[in-house]
Parts: sequence; C-alpha cells; structure tokens
Amino acid sequence: MHLETITKQIIAQALEIGFSECGVTDTKPLDDESKHLKNWLKLGYNGTMKYMENYFDKRHNPALLVEQSKSAIVVLLNYKPSRTIPADKPQVSKYAYGTDYHFVVKNRLTQLLQWIQKEIMPCRGVAFVDSAPVLEKALAVKAGLGWIGKNSLLVNKKYGSMTFIGTLFVDISLHYNKQIEPDGCGNCQRCIDHCPTKAIVKPRIIDATRCISYLNKTHKGDVPQSLKSLIGNRIWGCDTCIDVCPYNKKTPPHNIPELMPKDEIFSLNLNTISKRQLKKLIMRQPQYNQSGTGS
Ligand code: SF4
Ligand code: SF4
Repeated sequence: MHLETITKQIIAQALEIGFSECGVTDTKPLDDESKHLKNWLKLGYNGTMKYMENYFDKRHNPALLVEQSKSAIVVLLNYKPSRTIPADKPQVSKYAYGTDYHFVVKNRLTQLLQWIQKEIMPCRGVAFVDSAPVLEKALAVKAGLGWIGKNSLLVNKKYGSMTFIGTLFVDISLHYNKQIEPDGCGNCQRCIDHCPTKAIVKPRIIDATRCISYLNKTHKGDVPQSLKSLIGNRIWGCDTCIDVCPYNKKTPPHNIPELMPKDEIFSLNLNTISKRQLKKLIMRQPQYNQSGTGS
C-alpha cells in the first residue's frame, strides 16, 4: 500500500481511538531544539531537575532512543475540563483533575500500535508519554501539530495548549508531514505579562527556578521567601500562562472518561491532606474494564 494512504489510515485511527490530533514525522536529529535545550541548561534554568542533563544524545536524536525506529507518530489529547475549581479553593492544575494522564495516553497509544500491527503490517513500536528523554514538543511541531508558544508550551490552532503529547515510535517508514504550522503568537504576550513570578524571561525561555509549576511540584528544598507569596493558593502546578492564552478560550471541553474531574480534587482540605497524599491522589491510575472503557 502507498505510504501516504497508510499514514492517513493511521491518523484516522488515532482520531477514532479518541486522540484530538495526530501527525507523523521522521526520527532525524532535532538540531534546533537541542541547541535551545543546551543553552537553557547552561543558564541553569532547570534548577534541581538534573535529569534534564542526562541522555542528551537521545534527546537530540530520537533514532537512538528506540533502535531501528523510523517514524514518530505524535498525538495530542485535549484535557480542557468542563468545570474548574472555584478561585477561592486550593488550586490544582487542570491537567491533574482526572486520573494520571500518563496511563490514559499510553493506553490509547498501545491500542493504536496493536491496530497498526493487525491492520497495516507487523512492526515494532514503543510509546512514550513524558517518560523518557523525548523532545515531544519539537516532534509535535515537526509533525505539523502546532508551534511553541511564548510560554514554551505547544500551541495547537484548534485545541490550544491544554493537550497532552504522546509519541509512538515505530520501525516502519511512513509519509512525513512537510507543513510546519506558522507561529501564531504574533504580537501577543499575555502569558509573559501575566506570569506571577516573571518566570518567562524571554519568549520561549522559562526560568524553571521561578516557575510555580516547578516550585510546588518538583523543587526539592525551601522555596525562596520572595516567591512564596506569589504562589498564592496554587498547591499543584500553575495554569496562569495557559488560562490567559487566547487559543485556549474556544477549545471545546474533552469527553475522555478517565480525565473527568474527580470530586476529591474540588474539595481538598489543606488542613487534613499532606503533600504526599495529594501526590498519590493526582497519580491515581485509571480503571479499565474488559471492553477497554476507562474511568
Ligand atoms: S506555569 Fe505559572 S509560573 Fe510558570 S511560566 Fe506559566 S504562569 Fe509563570
Ligand atoms: S498567551 Fe499569547 S504569546 Fe502566550 S502562548 Fe498564547 S498566544 Fe502565544
């Protein structure tokens, strides 16, 4: 079968499985993004996230990550919720309202791989969701799924930046995207202006050591006093640069059962829940029944 036809079928199946968008690209080295990452690390903007310095060769060259891989099938899953936590309650980032997205996206990528193996041709595939040294945003851009916004998130024209990115590397050749989405930020700099801690030091350069999402989730040690008051009632992540982005205004809410907001997240009592319990709550695994339906 013609490569273009196969690729179209795979993209159609990804959408059928529930992904919001899907694009396909090659696994050649990501030179520009690697340069950007190198400079960012040199400036120390990764804080205590030392793991970002590891496996640089694999980040740069996805073909080294999964031996024999030829194609990267990149998917987006919209996570915009239909309701949000009232502003006066402890704030958890919207991506964490449901069960742990790593499982949700990986489950669907596995379904996609099994379908390819059955319907297209036998192949080997490995799925990644934020779990390995993969420059996912760069691959998504190459696959034609959006551009990197000034807040350094991937922005998709239709789904904005409230999307999870997943990548399925396969050892078969496919038809690769050639149309890169132009930068849609233009003169807008709402994310830069509204960032409470001024963590976006330049368009697309985030000083993670000032970013609330890092400070209240990943950072080890004390948070500097000067930043503490700016964190406000955000207890897990920060959505400010997402909430102000015009591309997120018209996005339709998702209808993924496993990502539906859980009531416990909306009624957190900070006097009775520890950071450890909160982490456990956020990392809950989805439950799947025999027909594959999750909750
Ligand atoms: S997540 Fe919050 S703190 Fe971090 S860059 Fe965005 S607005 Fe700033
Ligand atoms: S808020 Fe404006 S500048 Fe920031 S990512 Fe969205 S469109 Fe781009």
